[in-house]
Amino acid sequence: MSDQSAKTQNPAAGELDVLVIGAGFGGLYALYRLRGDGYSVKVLEAAADVGGTWYFNRYPGARCDIESMSYSYSFSEDLQQEWEWSERYAAQPEILSYINHVADRFELRQHIQFETRATQAVFDEASQRWQVTTDGGEVISARFCVLATGCLSVPQRPNVDGLDSFEGRWCHTGFWPHEDVDFSGQRVGVVGTGSSGIQAIPLIAEQADHLTVFQRTANYSVPAWNRPLEAEVADEWKARYSEIRKRARLGLAGVGFEGRQCATLEISEEEQQHELERRWQHGGLVMWETFTDVLSDEEANAVTAEFVRAKIRAQVEDPEIADLLTPKGFPYGSKRICTDTNYYQTFNRENVELVDISSSPIEEITRTGLRAGGQSYELDALVFATGFDAMTGPILDIDIRGKNGLSLREKWSAGPRTYLGLMVAGFPNLFTIAGPGSPSVLSNMVVSIEQHVDWIADCLAHMKQEGLECIEPALAAEDGWVGHANELASATLFPKANSWYIGANIPGKPRVFMPYLGGVGPYRKICDDVASNAYEGFVISRRS
Ligand code: NAP
Repeated sequence: MSDQSAKTQNPAAGELDVLVIGAGFGGLYALYRLRGDGYSVKVLEAAADVGGTWYFNRYPGARCDIESMSYSYSFSEDLQQEWEWSERYAAQPEILSYINHVADRFELRQHIQFETRATQAVFDEASQRWQVTTDGGEVISARFCVLATGCLSVPQRPNVDGLDSFEGRWCHTGFWPHEDVDFSGQRVGVVGTGSSGIQAIPLIAEQADHLTVFQRTANYSVPAWNRPLEAEVADEWKARYSEIRKRARLGLAGVGFEGRQCATLEISEEEQQHELERRWQHGGLVMWETFTDVLSDEEANAVTAEFVRAKIRAQVEDPEIADLLTPKGFPYGSKRICTDTNYYQTFNRENVELVDISSSPIEEITRTGLRAGGQSYELDALVFATGFDAMTGPILDIDIRGKNGLSLREKWSAGPRTYLGLMVAGFPNLFTIAGPGSPSVLSNMVVSIEQHVDWIADCLAHMKQEGLECIEPALAAEDGWVGHANELASATLFPKANSWYIGANIPGKPRVFMPYLGGVGPYRKICDDVASNAYEGFVISRRS
């Protein structure tokens, strides 16, 4: 039971200290931590309940590809000792019940206003407060505003004519219906073969009469080797949790696993293959950064890429289909590696068809299916696994106005600009959690969320203690951070792929690599050093 719930009363209008937007992993921990520090906190959540991405992504097969013992909060020792995960990689329903458990256990719900979307946030310079308008027309005033809006929460479906005329059912993986969607006896089309599609396709194939997969780009997917989590394994983690969590916080990706260790080109071919096979057999994201040079050197990259391509070909019986499923034209790992259970084997089923739409895009959706490459496909149901307007989408969905009426949409029209991925010049007392400019989606999100929330809480404590009113980055510090982040990205192979990291999946979106590539541990050190160096790079004004 929470020891802090009684500390915060419902504040009178105009006295709210912190407004948090979003009640996923980020928003809930922000609420817990800031309420515990004695602030009045309110959370706005568009959904009817907690969970964020795990509330919306209910598609068949939805599962986290960070191991469950790792993809969980570390802020409460009792919580991490008592909660029991059933599988190595938790499925969406289990993660959602964990998040619900956290909300109940720490009595968080009473501070969350559900089914309320923030539509506008304006910084009022006279009162030095944020005025946040909701879709219900309410205006909420708060001294600080924390955007815990998630990175993958604005689903994107293809901009193709005719969807309204489709007589069957259609769903997007990122906004899946709450009731069971039964594909039995149906002809189903899935558009999209990223992480979501790759998880959903094997399960839809088992249920549907016929499944047509429309693939624009083949992706690299590695086996998850998911399995029940044995009690001894969980006990071992729990016994060593403090050490494992510490390693995760200081490592590159925020997970306790063994990362890259040596360069591809420094070892023999035999050693390369041995190491790749070892990682393949381990499964999951240890296959991402296989060697220190895999994401920076094309020759090195080709070694891992060819290893995975051979594995793909070995799983698919028809060589032509195998060839279509084999990724080409972009470096291995420069798009998010997918993890799967029986994805490639699914294409050996008689009821599954793969349609290559790389050079002949979907022309239109019709009353009874879709047309692509001049051919009609008759479908009873359509599933869009077509991704999200990632990272900036959820933030810019809110009309945010800073000092002098500066619009964040305008400021970010050529791509996001932040200092440390935490704040934006011209937008005082506005914080982002795991947003652009921070390790975020390149890391275990829960670790990065906890780091951001703790940093923000420490910053607020500093301001309170020193009697400070407003904090925002100096423009020069922001420019420096953006330059540093871009420099790191351009030293890698990431910019060579048309990935959502770079906004390439959204027509017209500026092509800028959005997450910070310096790694979770080094990034944490930078943030901590800035704080201990009197918040170097920030402009802080004193209370008048
Ligand atoms: P995604 O990676 O962006 O994949 C979208 C897919 O849809 C791609 O294959 C894309 O093709 C295709 N597509 C998009 N627009 C299209 C169009 N107009 N016509 C045809 N195809 C189109 O999205 P996602 O699969 O939802 O995954 C997003 C991210 O969420 C992942 O990268 C991961 O970070 C996270 N996620 C994680 C898990 C997990 O933990 N296991 C599961 C799901 C999602 P192109 O490649 O050609 O653009």
